[in-house]
Amino acid sequence: MNCKICSALFQEFLEKSLCEELISEVDSHLKKCGQCRSSMHTYSLTIVLSSRADPPCCVPAEKMDELKKILMERFCTKKTA
Ligand SMILES: [Zn+2]
Repeated sequence: MNCKICSALFQEFLEKSLCEELISEVDSHLKKCGQCRSSMHTYSLTIVLSSRADPPCCVPAEKMDELKKILMERFCTKKTA
């Protein structure tokens, strides 16, 4: 987990739409990264203030979707097989 990946997952994290594995990944990154903590705080306020928040960083939307897909596949292994 790095800052770019972490910030790419803010929205899902706040919406609680991530799987447990990714939540704990984001969580543990936030615990040790003050920069992401403040970004997350700012981002959550943005969401509260407007229902349509812009992506938290400069990652293009398509790249972000791609990144999320890879992360979901890597971390969210199907347990109901
Ligand atoms: Zn960070």
